[in-house]
Amino acid sequence: MTHHVPQKKIIIIGAGLGGLSAAISLATEGFAVELIEKNDKVGGKLNVLIKDGFTFDLGPSILTMPALFDALFTNAGKRREDYINFQQIEPHWRNFFEDGSVVDLSADPAIMHTQLSQLDPKAPEEFARFMAYSRRLCAATEAGYFAKGIDTVWELLKFYGPLRSALDFDILHSMDQGVRKHISHPKLVEILNYFIKYVGSSPYDAPALMNLLPAIQFDYGLWYVQGGMYAIAQGLERLALELGVKIHVNTEITELIHAGQQVTGVVSADGECRHADIVVSNMEVIPAMQKLLNSSAAELQKMQGFAPSCSGLVLHLGVNRQYPQLAHHNFFYSEHPREHFKAIFTEHQLSEDPTIYLVAPVKSDPQQAPEGCEIIKILPHIPHLDPAKPITADQYLAFRERVLIKLERMGLTHLRQHIVTEEYWTPHDIEARYYSNQGSIYGVVTDRFKNLGFKAPQRSGQFKNLYFVGGSVNPGGGMPMVVLSGQLVRDKILADLKD
Ligand SMILES: Cc1cc2nc3c(=O)[nH]c(=O)nc-3n(C[C@H](O)[C@H](O)[C@H](O)COP(=O)(O)OP(=O)(O)OC[C@H]3O[C@@H](n4cnc5c(N)ncnc54)[C@H](O)[C@@H]3O)c2cc1C
Repeated sequence: MTHHVPQKKIIIIGAGLGGLSAAISLATEGFAVELIEKNDKVGGKLNVLIKDGFTFDLGPSILTMPALFDALFTNAGKRREDYINFQQIEPHWRNFFEDGSVVDLSADPAIMHTQLSQLDPKAPEEFARFMAYSRRLCAATEAGYFAKGIDTVWELLKFYGPLRSALDFDILHSMDQGVRKHISHPKLVEILNYFIKYVGSSPYDAPALMNLLPAIQFDYGLWYVQGGMYAIAQGLERLALELGVKIHVNTEITELIHAGQQVTGVVSADGECRHADIVVSNMEVIPAMQKLLNSSAAELQKMQGFAPSCSGLVLHLGVNRQYPQLAHHNFFYSEHPREHFKAIFTEHQLSEDPTIYLVAPVKSDPQQAPEGCEIIKILPHIPHLDPAKPITADQYLAFRERVLIKLERMGLTHLRQHIVTEEYWTPHDIEARYYSNQGSIYGVVTDRFKNLGFKAPQRSGQFKNLYFVGGSVNPGGGMPMVVLSGQLVRDKILADLKD
């Protein structure tokens, strides 16, 4: 632990994983950190609800890159194993198609070979070439974008040089084109395209760079946390408290106080002012500009490329039977993937035939539900809220029905008859609960035309001592990335204090 920095006071607005990671990273460096959260518990979108004997993980369920979590503990001289118990999931995903075929993605190369050969004799070799490409993209990204916290296209060009940027990141292609360069079987194309779920975007609009996601999943593994994903938030909260972070829940920040190019503190809904030398916002950039800074239309206009990712209709079902055909993570594919993504990202409508992500955590953790029961968590991606194209409550309910009928047709017989409890969230609930931009679930969309795949910078463009962490800034959304953003903001703050 280093204590070379004088005790500057840092206020962090929001205790999502980005805010918790920043709090831990900055407290480890000796700063006095206050973490202020509007909800009644820490974790942000990593949230939990216990209802009728079922433990529902309300937010994220797929975890990769555990080393990014481990770093928070090792830097503080602790062992992650003493706080959070990660366990590998096998198979990684089970993929269901309308024609009845099922393909597993596995960490075991022999199983992968068998699964792919059954699909198409050419598939194993094509997949091996695709994975070599995926690993190249991943290695290039880790060297600069992840390790150095590159925040803009200019920093990227400076670090990699123009030619290497183009070659290393396959910049002329979309994710889908990058997949199709290597893979010919349409089902395998659809599976690999759906790795985009990690960032809630479209494979047709996302840069080819997003093909790094399979390398991340296969090389760093796919993990669950015994006791449910919320144990991650509890483990991080414990570490933060041990490091002296002061945590306030049920405290909403309503204003950032500023003078010239400096922020000087925050005001909470009860009127209390708190002074800070530095402020880190885990509230997303655009909502913070709108609600805390009252930013001008011109300032907001500059941010329009950082449009929201998709949202989700989140169905948490407690069912009084088990479905043995399910794995822990399952995908039920659309027969019309292009139309599906176009509905979400271009038309801002509910898809007629959605691809459905379904999590059945009881497969790894029977304690999560009463005996003989199953948790079926269903997350089809849907558009973020768009005031120009409102979707009614009835339309969301009709979509819920469409999703359940599709699942019944694809093998989850009589699913609707077996529901004994349900928790149902629309994008309005997600926006209200976490103040995410237009109900987005992964922060900023990854889109090569809107933002080249970049998210907003971590340093505020307006104030010298205001920083952002979480899914709306680089390196983006998803649990591992927001945890990395908390560590990168520490590096930026330390570098700026040296200047
Ligand atoms: C249903 C769902 C499924 C998902 N599935 C996955 C998955 O499988 N794998 C994965 O890696 N990721 C997944 N994600 C995405 C992942 O949850 C997020 O990327 C990540 O948790 C976001 O962390 P964050 O720190 O950016 O923001 P958040 O978790 O949103 O944290 C921001 C915090 O700031 C608080 N806040 C906001 N404004 C204020 C204010 N003014 N004052 C005080 N507090 C404030 C909010 O209440 C919130 O607690 C999923 C998300 C959802 C919703």
